[in-house]
Amino acid sequence: MGMLAGLLDLALPVECAGCGAAGSAWCARCAADLEGVPVGVYPRVAPGVPVWSTGVFGGARRGAVIALKEHGRRDAAVPLAAALARSIAALREAGELDPPELAPLIMVPAPSRASAARRRGGDPVLRIAALAASATPPRLASAAASDRAVRALRLRTGARDSVGLGAAARQRNLAGRVTVRRGAVERLAGAPGGGPPDAAPRVPAVVFVDDVVTTGATAAESVRVLANVGIRVRAVLVLGHA
Ligand SMILES: [Zn+2]
Repeated sequence: MGMLAGLLDLALPVECAGCGAAGSAWCARCAADLEGVPVGVYPRVAPGVPVWSTGVFGGARRGAVIALKEHGRRDAAVPLAAALARSIAALREAGELDPPELAPLIMVPAPSRASAARRRGGDPVLRIAALAASATPPRLASAAASDRAVRALRLRTGARDSVGLGAAARQRNLAGRVTVRRGAVERLAGAPGGGPPDAAPRVPAVVFVDDVVTTGATAAESVRVLANVGIRVRAVLVLGHA
C-alpha cells in the first residue's frame, strides 16, 4: 500500500503545503518565507527562559503546520524542520546555545494528547523536532553524540484543546496535566553515549519545542514540570509566534 500510495502521489497534481499553489509540494515563495534569523518573543505567561521563534505564525509557517496536522501532509514537516535547524544553528552561532561540541541538543516536543496524536497519524511536533535534530551538521569524530528529540512530556486526559482560551484559562486548563514520561529524566540528564570513555560528560542542552507560542502557558508549564524533576530547560524554540 505504501508503494502504491507513493506511485499514486506521483500521478496526482501536487500543491504547495504552505500556500496551496499548484506545481510543487513546497513552492519557492514559501521557502523564502521560512528564511530568516530567529527572533526573541515575550509571551504573556513567561516560562522564565528565553523564547525564540523562527518567525511570525502566518503565511507558509501556518499553512505548513495546518497541512501537516489537519490534512496529513507529512512532507510539510521537512521545510518546517529545516527552519528549526537553521534557527538552532543561528542561536549557536550567536552564543545563545552552546556549540554542538560542548553540548548536544535535546529537543523536547510540546506534550500532546495521545488521542490527538493518533488522529493526526503521529505527533507532528515530535516529527519536526526529530527531523531538525537529524539535520544538524555532523559532529567531530570524538564527540559522536548528536542532537536528538526526546518525547519527554505527556498531556493527561482532561486537558482541552486550548484554542480560543485566554492566558489565565489556558494556565488553569494545563495545571497538573503536563507530566514527565517514565524514563524521560534519564534520557534527558545523562551524557549521551558515543564519546571517548575518558572525556568529560557533556550535559545536553534541553530545548522545549512547539509549533506556535501564543500565551506561553504550555511552554511555561512544561518548563516548570521539567524543573521539578531536575531538568533545566535552556530555551523555548517555536516555529512561529502569534
Ligand atoms: Zn507555497
